[in-house]
Amino acid sequence: MPTEELRQDAERYLMHTYARTPISIVRGRGSRVYDLEGREYLDFVAGIAVNVLGHCHPDVVAAIQKQAQQLLHTSNLYYTEPQVQLARTLVDHSFAHKVFFCNSGAEANEAAIKLARRYSHLKYGPDRYEIVTMRQSFHGRTMATLSATGQDKVQKGFEPLLPGFTYVPFNDLPAVEAVLTDRTAAVLLEPVQGEGGVHVADRAYLKGLRDLCRQRDVLLIFDEIQTGMGRTGTLFAYEQLGVEPDVMTLAKGLGGGVPIGACLATDDVAAAFTPGTHASTFGGNPLACAAALAVLQVLLEGRVLEQGRRMGDYLAKGLLDCKDRLPIVKDVRGLGLLQGMELTIDGKSVVTDCLARGILINCTVDRVLRFVPPLIIAQREIDRLLDALSNMLSKRV
Ligand SMILES: *Cc1c(COP(=O)(O)O)cnc(C)c1O
Repeated sequence: MPTEELRQDAERYLMHTYARTPISIVRGRGSRVYDLEGREYLDFVAGIAVNVLGHCHPDVVAAIQKQAQQLLHTSNLYYTEPQVQLARTLVDHSFAHKVFFCNSGAEANEAAIKLARRYSHLKYGPDRYEIVTMRQSFHGRTMATLSATGQDKVQKGFEPLLPGFTYVPFNDLPAVEAVLTDRTAAVLLEPVQGEGGVHVADRAYLKGLRDLCRQRDVLLIFDEIQTGMGRTGTLFAYEQLGVEPDVMTLAKGLGGGVPIGACLATDDVAAAFTPGTHASTFGGNPLACAAALAVLQVLLEGRVLEQGRRMGDYLAKGLLDCKDRLPIVKDVRGLGLLQGMELTIDGKSVVTDCLARGILINCTVDRVLRFVPPLIIAQREIDRLLDALSNMLSKRV
């Protein structure tokens, strides 16, 4: 179907929840995708920080093919090997002792919110249910997770919100201290705010949060849905930030493109969930888990993580160099291959210009260009992006 016809049908049959770019992507390979007309694009969006190993990584494709021939689904009424193996591998390589699987980021945060409430409820009674979250955060679009999200535009028109959330500025420890009470069950934050404009949490702030939460038996929950799975240079961002959370959520990169989410926790906290308290029909489905296990095995082998780290440094350096030369660039922030470039102008036209040059990038909170390529991105591919940006932005001064 020609792109224009597809666009018209999409407008007609899909609810208008996205403002889509008018290209139709038909296949992908590594860090590139191809549209219906055969045009090639360098992919610095990667399905919004999802395709950490690039498109169609052979190990992931093989794992999916093999599992599809064997068993697609049976529900959680029975044991399946891919789910248990994936949980074990995640536990072996994180602070956590137990995993709950679901199908998306929002669902992973739903699980974390429910787990925190139940843990506190069982231990301290029904009045202790509040969760402190950050302004400019993003935790999802379900009622509980949009209530957790500290952005008006996500909440507007959906009131009444779920009660029990308190919002404070990001990277502001005294602000958290000021709102913690006997009713506080948890503090929830992203180690690097992604959708909110790429803001990195300071190490001292996280250390302070960790100490504060430990003193009060308040759970520290990291939403690593965007920062996890090697995105920031280590398997999970917390590893390089010097603190361990009590609960962590994953999704996006976890399945390498197959929908899957996870909520990880220490034994003590995870014990709050017992049979009948939380569930998901598809959660931990063998197909999704087989794909995620393949992704994790590639990352644990080490070379891709190392590549991601090097390319993250290289990209950051190149973007900072643009900032030094171009007054239109207000700031450059990020960790690993989650990088943001804040402009003094709206970024939409830059995204469009990049598209015309065969490069997919994304813009968040109007003025922040976000770069989240696959970890296998090559240096010459980053050079292409930097050249294009340099060229375009110098014309706009
Ligand atoms: C994308 C994202 C979510 C929501 O994930 P969905 O799979 O879209 O529900 C939650 N938290 C963070 C940090 C995210 O980046």
